[in-house]
Amino acid sequence: MSDKYDVVVIGSGPAGYVAAIRAAQLGLKTACVEKWQKDGKMVNGGTCLNVGCIPSKALLDSSHKYHDAAHAYQSHGIVTGEMSVDVPAMIARKEKIVAQMAGGISGLFQANGVTSVFGSGRLLAGHKVEVTAADGSVQTLEADNVIIATGSLPINIPVAPVDNDVIIDSTGALELQEVPKRLGVIGAGVIGLELGSVWGRLGSEVVVLEALPDFLAMMDKQIAKESLKIFKKQGLDIRMGARVTGSEVKDGQVTVSYENGEGTQQETFDKLIVCVGRRPYTEGLLAPDSGVNLDERGFIFVDDYCATNAPGVWAVGDVVRGPMLAHKGSEEGVMVAERIAGQKTAMNYDIIPNVIYTHPEIASVGLTEEEVKQSGEPYEVGTFPFMAIGRAVAADQAEGMVKIVAHAETDRVLGCHIVGPSAADLVQQVAIAMEFGSSAEDIGMTVFGHPTFSEAVKEAALAVHGHAIHMPNRKKRK
Ligand code: FAD
Ligand code: AMP
Repeated sequence: MSDKYDVVVIGSGPAGYVAAIRAAQLGLKTACVEKWQKDGKMVNGGTCLNVGCIPSKALLDSSHKYHDAAHAYQSHGIVTGEMSVDVPAMIARKEKIVAQMAGGISGLFQANGVTSVFGSGRLLAGHKVEVTAADGSVQTLEADNVIIATGSLPINIPVAPVDNDVIIDSTGALELQEVPKRLGVIGAGVIGLELGSVWGRLGSEVVVLEALPDFLAMMDKQIAKESLKIFKKQGLDIRMGARVTGSEVKDGQVTVSYENGEGTQQETFDKLIVCVGRRPYTEGLLAPDSGVNLDERGFIFVDDYCATNAPGVWAVGDVVRGPMLAHKGSEEGVMVAERIAGQKTAMNYDIIPNVIYTHPEIASVGLTEEEVKQSGEPYEVGTFPFMAIGRAVAADQAEGMVKIVAHAETDRVLGCHIVGPSAADLVQQVAIAMEFGSSAEDIGMTVFGHPTFSEAVKEAALAVHGHAIHMPNRKKRK
């Protein structure tokens, strides 16, 4: 059987499903192929909805509520009785949310006229996609354009092979049925910190082992330093410069060996989460004559507009270069759908917010101070602590700060970096300002509601010129 489409998308994660919906909105006959199965049923939504952004945030939220009730309510004069955690109920709540969100994608496909095809897609020459269903039946879809959005998988390291029992990856860490007494996490990246936080808040003694010497090396240094200080205060044991070199599972526990400056160390854990990054997912995807090239790191090679070297074949999301973030893939999906429809859409890769959903959140957009310094451009920095923000003090969330980096001559905002309450949403405000080419003065002149956490953004913008009101300015300027 053969069907002809304008667009066939392979993969229904945030890159693929958004591309499919936008293509259908533009009047293109579109199909989206997905192979993910859960409990014998095929599901849309990819990593993000099933084992990524959404379930991790569900558990971060549940664990935060527990932690607050156990430790933070007292200072508000709220007396709680003895507390306990029903982990299976917490996991079941997360599953319900996942099912609801994934079902939402299927609903959106129906509403927009996207044909959902379940099975494993393989790109053949000539824009043909061979789809093998779970029952082994095969069909071939023909298309004028194919969009590859097959995403990524967790990286496995031989020194700590995942056995899905004692040594688990991020997916396993979202499914634990009890709180491990001692929990090891390899990798102090975004995912390691978020998952370590979930189980730490629920009572695990968490040790995070990170090979690199600097904490959150890709972040603005000042914000990374401030974040580490806050996490240490919270009792998260983060060991930098600790490279895991081996592991041994015995009697339901794992003993991890790691090297640090002082030699080889060992730690024993009840569970070990391996969070050392993700790799592009291309297994079984490309027939030898598909004409699509990979880059040297195994990602599908694309240009600035996500076109592969095979005409009419595009690739978006985690399977191509750039940050592995859901929203980056979604924007690429929109760009490609619109370009297929004949529009000249381009994407601004310079303004992609990045968030770590710990408590407090860490968020950034644009260039770090170090990046600007390295570029040689003259710049000014404004910082403002949440300690001086009434709303933050009232909410007992006064840790952290906002930092804005602006060009010294044009005053254009080049970057914003935040650790503190609602950092994800605050950084988005600055991202919008940056998209419109805003100066620090523009943000400083904007009227912000009071009392809000966002006043820290205004004050940091004012501080760029030494004009902050609610704190003495280091720069004294009129
Ligand atoms: P995916 O979401 O991986 O989707 C790819 C889809 O393609 C999958 O459904 C897969 O089954 C399917 N597929 C693959 N091969 C084939 C084939 N041959 N045929 C058919 N289908 C195929 N990002 C954020 O922005 N914010 C967050 O808070 C965040 N939190 C995260 C937390 C965790 C624990 C993890 C693991 C990731 C998190 N991410 C987060 C990253 C985010 O999930 C990914 O960046 C995003 O899912 C990538 O989207 P994608 O569409 O490119 O790929
Ligand atoms: P991310 O890529 O942001 O998910 O982060 C993964 C982190 O895991 C990186 O900071 C790596 O340095 C770290 N990492 C990778 N391999 C090891 C290892 N063997 N031991 C400790 N940390 C590691």
